[in-house]
Amino acid sequence: MADRLRTHVAVIGSGPGGAVTAALCAEAGYETLLVEEGDDLPLDACAHFSGDEILRKYRNAGIGMAFGKPSISYVEGCCVGGGSEVNRGLYHRTPPYVLEQWAKAYRVEQLSPDLLAPHFAACEGTARIAFLPGSAPPLSQRLGDGAGELGWETIQAPRLYDYESGRKQSMSATFIPRFRRAGGQVMANMRALRIRRNGKQWHAATLHQGREVTIEADALFIACGAVQTPALLRRSGFRHNVGNSLRFHPMLKAVALFDRPVNRPGDPDPVHQIKMFEPRFGIGCSISSPALLALALAGSPQMRRRIAADAARMGIYYVQNGTGHARVRGLPLARDPLVSVRHEGGDLDDLYDGLKHLMRALFAAGAEAVQPCLPGFPMLHSVDELASLPGRLPRRSAMLTSVHVFASCPMGEDRRLSATDSWGRVHDGDGLRIADASLMCGPTIANPQGSVMAIAHRNALHAIERRFA
Ligand SMILES: Cc1cc2nc3c(=O)[nH]c(=O)nc-3n(C[C@H](O)[C@H](O)[C@H](O)COP(=O)(O)OP(=O)(O)OC[C@H]3O[C@@H](n4cnc5c(N)ncnc54)[C@H](O)[C@@H]3O)c2cc1C
Repeated sequence: MADRLRTHVAVIGSGPGGAVTAALCAEAGYETLLVEEGDDLPLDACAHFSGDEILRKYRNAGIGMAFGKPSISYVEGCCVGGGSEVNRGLYHRTPPYVLEQWAKAYRVEQLSPDLLAPHFAACEGTARIAFLPGSAPPLSQRLGDGAGELGWETIQAPRLYDYESGRKQSMSATFIPRFRRAGGQVMANMRALRIRRNGKQWHAATLHQGREVTIEADALFIACGAVQTPALLRRSGFRHNVGNSLRFHPMLKAVALFDRPVNRPGDPDPVHQIKMFEPRFGIGCSISSPALLALALAGSPQMRRRIAADAARMGIYYVQNGTGHARVRGLPLARDPLVSVRHEGGDLDDLYDGLKHLMRALFAAGAEAVQPCLPGFPMLHSVDELASLPGRLPRRSAMLTSVHVFASCPMGEDRRLSATDSWGRVHDGDGLRIADASLMCGPTIANPQGSVMAIAHRNALHAIERRFA
């Protein structure tokens, strides 16, 4: 490969934000390069949620940490298609009240639910959304039953999934083929190190198989995900409200042991969710393979010992909300940024209260025992034992986990709060654009990928209409 590549448009990062943006630019007739640090692997290169997948498709073998009290352990995808390749594709449009809050607090232009609806619909036309045909697997159904006993509503979430072919509607199965059909080129195993303006062009210094390759582009979109985008921008000297407001959907988990099998190999992914307590907290079901049970029960030896005999009777469930405000900062000589988090207000208390609600629902569903996945917490055998738990979540020993990261470079016209304008143009950035989950103005409350795609779609069309000015 030459050590200089010239293109009209370069998009760095091929997750949902980057893939949607790149497809639209290529289809508008612009020569477009989609640059991705990770490997270009087929969707079925490794089994979903296997150790192999974690090693090959996740960043740093699934280890990411936001340090705080408590810390948040998070994961990111790192392959062509980004997080969409490794996630479950549970799908929601952004709740209207969330969009309205963002538009008001950050002064985001034209972000009403009605104006975003065509962008959701356009993305759903390519990455199709479906409800599980037939009945939900027992692990999922149990959450529905328990909630029903308590008079709580549940929903069965749709997924980015084609149930007929059994294929996930990840970016490598949807927008990236669309991008390639329009003549776009994917450059995998290429990590952007720095970007800079050079006259009327953008230059991105990248590393490809140990060699420096410079990409020269007339228009540049950064879509490296909500942790890596601010890291790249800060390395390149763009700092205004960049990396100061990273948010998560942190989770606490509990494992339930039922009286009969609920967790059979080959069952479809669970889909029940309890959304009626949002935004204080939301509840759902997790994949519960023996490997993931072992991980969830790492701090709970009593229940962990039972996995070999009883995995089929066990299910992992979670509660999540938007606790934590984090910062992303570069470290000299380090490849990855330092992420630090602080928890404000009552969000942590709400999350802990949500864990207790979840455990009530699991007992109401007939669980024989429930193990909160918190170090030192006892296995509970009845709902009455919930009263014996500590009144507050232990700040030092608790570990939260998250698979959703966003809001590190929020958009809007209020420059005191935002890193870009309402359309993803970095303030004073000479037309440099962000096109990923970083742009959100806070937690989406719902699963975020639909929001990332719709906002990228809206902003890419805006950029194309203005010829990237
Ligand atoms: C395990 C897991 C489960 C999830 N489950 C769901 C779910 O069920 N539903 C849902 O809606 N959402 C889910 N999510 C979240 C969803 O996947 C993300 O919101 C979405 O992928 C974010 O898209 P993005 O474009 O912002 O970034 P990403 O998907 O993170 O993509 C960014 C890409 O940029 C690449 N990159 C980073 N830095 C560089 C660099 N310097 N140079 C070149 N390339 C770079 C990365 O390797 C990555 O491929 C899940 C995520 C994970 C990890």
